[in-house]
Amino acid sequence: MLDLAVIGATAVTPGATKLADVGIKDGKIANIAAPGTLQAAKFIDARGMLLLPGAVDPHTHLDAEMFGARTADDFESGTIAAAAGGVTTIIDYAFQTAGGSLGEAISKWDDKARGRAVIDYGFHVAILDPTPAAIAEIPKVVERGVSSFKIFMMRGFEDRARDFLRAFKMAAEAGALLTIHAEDEHLIGYCTERLLGGGNRSVAHFAASRPPLSEAAAVLRGLKMTELTGAHAYFVHLSSKAAIDEIRRARRNGANRAVLAETRPIYLYLTQEKFLEPQGEKFVGYPPLRERADIDAIWEALGDGTIDVVATDHCSWPLERKTAPDRFTRIPPGMSNLETLVPMLYSEGVVKRRISLERMVELVASNPAKIFGLYPRKGAIVEGADADLVVFDPDAKVVVHASEMHSRADYDPFEGFEVAGWPRATISRGEILVNDRKSAARPGRGMFLPRAPFSPESER
Ligand SMILES: [Zn+2]
Repeated sequence: MLDLAVIGATAVTPGATKLADVGIKDGKIANIAAPGTLQAAKFIDARGMLLLPGAVDPHTHLDAEMFGARTADDFESGTIAAAAGGVTTIIDYAFQTAGGSLGEAISKWDDKARGRAVIDYGFHVAILDPTPAAIAEIPKVVERGVSSFKIFMMRGFEDRARDFLRAFKMAAEAGALLTIHAEDEHLIGYCTERLLGGGNRSVAHFAASRPPLSEAAAVLRGLKMTELTGAHAYFVHLSSKAAIDEIRRARRNGANRAVLAETRPIYLYLTQEKFLEPQGEKFVGYPPLRERADIDAIWEALGDGTIDVVATDHCSWPLERKTAPDRFTRIPPGMSNLETLVPMLYSEGVVKRRISLERMVELVASNPAKIFGLYPRKGAIVEGADADLVVFDPDAKVVVHASEMHSRADYDPFEGFEVAGWPRATISRGEILVNDRKSAARPGRGMFLPRAPFSPESER
């Protein structure tokens, strides 16, 4: 007898989108069957609903310290917000300290997540100090199930570029994927100095301090550095047409390694005019919001396959912390996104016919699971996979209000947005975590996910 069956929904499975009943046993998807054929101890009546695989968000910052402050969300509130939005797996960034080992970073993040997370999680390690000892550790870290690393091409990258090349080479040999934050530190530094020198300190000048050129230049450099070393590259949160054009060109020219691209929700829905509003600081992230033409280019890139993943870069702050600084360089970057990722992409993407439902599922579930070594355990409705499922109500109408969200951030970047479609229930390994926007999730039930090394064949 099955433990649970979700019946009557239209399920998005890898081969087809069809009416199907999904049976769950011992936390796994036991069968995908014709409607009305399953016997189970318990049923969820999902008639009129969509059944989606739980989303996999490979870019979060929970319980992180930046700019001398701690993010609003820890692994408890952050993962509850995730579950409420239909995200059932996250991969969070563990930060190496100066002179520290990569293993220490993982242990520290393990302590943050264990006992708190309500959904399953993995880690990447951000390499901030590529010492010979840290580089030598890379293969061991991959063996431990942490098979991707972050490289920030800003804040001191140029001084250490040769050390970073050694790290790239080691990552290539160890079967790791490099996730790259591409912004050119010198172009940004030059623009920032000119603005501040002219007395232009307010957030209204933030976008001009980090123009699309600085992103495109860093993408190009990152492409050449990974080409030289044979390292697989995954560019995080691309924001501009100029950067996307570099990705397209690199792919057209063929490559000796994978070239992958991610964007984040804010670049799909908001333009840099937000920085001119009162409390425009709310919308500061790196890179900045761009112009309408960039938004259009990113939607096109989601549709044509240039961008592989939509991830949140969830990094939430109290409004007071965000608006306190007296200049744009001191505003802590990032904002809350986990709960709105899936419903907003559905509402703005699928309902408005910019992408298909199946493409949405690729972008937020199956592609990140494949790219980051979690497929088919996560990211798809297939027999044998973890029963991570979202019963999604396509007819729900929700207006985004921070007060109704599960993040501990006291504002939401999408406040007032009218969203068509919202998760009705979120299931993780067969357990109903959220129902009608109310969480019943037990902190600490989430498990660490060791991930397989990167495999270029399993991408997308
Ligand atoms: Zn990030």
